[in-house]
Amino acid sequence: MTIAASRRSLLLGAMALGGAAALRRPAYAQAAAPSGPFTLPPLPYAPNANEAAIDAQTMEIHHGRHHAAYVTNLNTALKDHGELAKLPIEELLAKLNEAPDSVRTALRNNGGGHTNHSMFWQVMGGTGEEPKGDLKAAIDRDLGGFEKLKTDFNGAGARVFGSGWVFVTVDRSGKLAIASRPNQDTPLMDGGRALFGNDVWEHAYYLRYQNRRPDYLAAWWKVVNWEKVAERYEAATKGTLKV
Ligand code: MN
Repeated sequence: MTIAASRRSLLLGAMALGGAAALRRPAYAQAAAPSGPFTLPPLPYAPNANEAAIDAQTMEIHHGRHHAAYVTNLNTALKDHGELAKLPIEELLAKLNEAPDSVRTALRNNGGGHTNHSMFWQVMGGTGEEPKGDLKAAIDRDLGGFEKLKTDFNGAGARVFGSGWVFVTVDRSGKLAIASRPNQDTPLMDGGRALFGNDVWEHAYYLRYQNRRPDYLAAWWKVVNWEKVAERYEAATKGTLKV
């Protein structure tokens, strides 16, 4: 091979690699977006770990494209706002009303999107058992037991008009409540905490369930990781649950 030809094949190889990388990223993430301060957390399990409720392709697109885009757009919104960029995300979201008008909506949508999805990956990967211990006691006390929780949570999720989330919130005393929010809003924006929550945007379920959101909500309990939720409950009562 001549030097020119080998250069060309190196170049083609590099282009092919670049092309493969570009396929894994959303098109709007390519314009030299800042790489921080926030980063996409890795999925804590294989994409097919939630197959009982969510197919692997949905998990890959949801994490690798949707969540990745929220992170990219959050970092872009913070690019010229160094003081805001230093805040922990839960503080930033609790003080959205203090953010400049020019970036408030971007911070709300993408900061909320980043924290909601970071929570969401954490509370799945389970095998559909039932809550135990202090968490079970709190569910019995505040939400009328596990069966009623599921019925009321699924109902609240089904009633979200358009895109949004359904949560169980937790306060420092350990008190639980069911709450829904539109778009990427989160209880963090009220200074509260989500113990766990389900994403009812169509992108979360459309490949397998199409318009049947209630079927998705009903199946989702098969993959909730109750050990992880119990850890979050304990952290919330200690004041160490961040997002
Ligand atoms: Mn989502």
